[in-house]
Amino acid sequence: MIDIEKFQHSDCIPDRQEIIELLSLKSPVDIERLRYSAEQLLLRLRGKEVYFRGLIEFSNVCSCDCYYCGIRGSNTDVFRYTLSKDQIVQSAAWCAQQGYGSIVLQSGERSDVAFADFVEQCIREIKDKTISRQIPEGLGITLSCGEQTAQVYQRWFDAGAHRYLLRIESSTPELFAALHPPVQKLQPRIEALRTLKKIGYMVGTGVMIGLPGQTIENLADDILFYRAIDADMIGMGPYIVHNATPLAHFKDEIAAQSEMIFKLSQKMIAVTRLTLKNVNIAASTALQAMKEDGRETGLTFGANVIMPQVTPVEVRKNYLLYEGKPCLDENAEQCRTCLALRVAAVGRTIAYNCWGDRG
Ligand code: SAM
Repeated sequence: MIDIEKFQHSDCIPDRQEIIELLSLKSPVDIERLRYSAEQLLLRLRGKEVYFRGLIEFSNVCSCDCYYCGIRGSNTDVFRYTLSKDQIVQSAAWCAQQGYGSIVLQSGERSDVAFADFVEQCIREIKDKTISRQIPEGLGITLSCGEQTAQVYQRWFDAGAHRYLLRIESSTPELFAALHPPVQKLQPRIEALRTLKKIGYMVGTGVMIGLPGQTIENLADDILFYRAIDADMIGMGPYIVHNATPLAHFKDEIAAQSEMIFKLSQKMIAVTRLTLKNVNIAASTALQAMKEDGRETGLTFGANVIMPQVTPVEVRKNYLLYEGKPCLDENAEQCRTCLALRVAAVGRTIAYNCWGDRG
């Protein structure tokens, strides 16, 4: 029987075999010991505070064709949009007024010059407009706009973005290849993460959990990958089927495993916390798509970041990565109130007016 509690110590890091054992825990008693250990470690290292990152999904135009993703380039049923600079800046300013402290600008992937210029202008204007007594350096800006050249990453960093989220999706080459067309490769994505680190970004990565063909060993390797790359933030969540994607033919298989996938997603948060210690870990929206209280339970398993929806309601339904995405018709104000109650319900507090970087 594995000694779970010892991993609460900062210098006790599970090895690959131990990570596999922790992820394989089945009995409710053992899972509760895992959850409790991760929560205790988080509370000791980072306290009760949960950081909000207002999520602005500013464009669903995408040149990638990931086999799992609802906004993949070849899905012709999607109405494509890009918010105007004013809409993006207004949404960001709203976040600053609410005291969120940080935003995430997320989009599909585009690699043209006009896109790089547009994002740079948005970053500069958001920084300009959100400097205040409460947040003297302006809103913290996380970007999640896919793979770009080192020059583009540098320009966006110089403009004021300081965090970048680029999920690796799976660190196992065969699984990555089964999820993407041949032109989308794992190695350049790993290189992109290294480039971002070198430039000075706080770097976030993560994977989807419950992918067809994915094993516990693959997930253990993903956690070791986070550690090897020295990730500052982790954003991971369950894989959820989108009907208009190539992976939809696994729908019945995935549906039959949904309870297991939800539990595994929670265990991944806890084991990542016990392995990486003081990083930021998000309780993803996809957790809530599976269960109404999914995000709060994510917090109790060791997560400390939530990304409230601030994408304007009129375009939100067009950023449908998977079926059943929650909060499609709640406006940002309703989302804020709902989340504040959810965070309080699990005995945690919201950290307002701060960036909330890795400790
Ligand atoms: N284009 C950027 C990129 O590639 O990093 C950011 C946007 S992308 C839509 C954001 C994330 O959505 C992906 O990294 C992927 O993990 C997640 N995602 C896409 N389809 C999903 C699905 N069916 N279930 C769960 N997560 C999904």
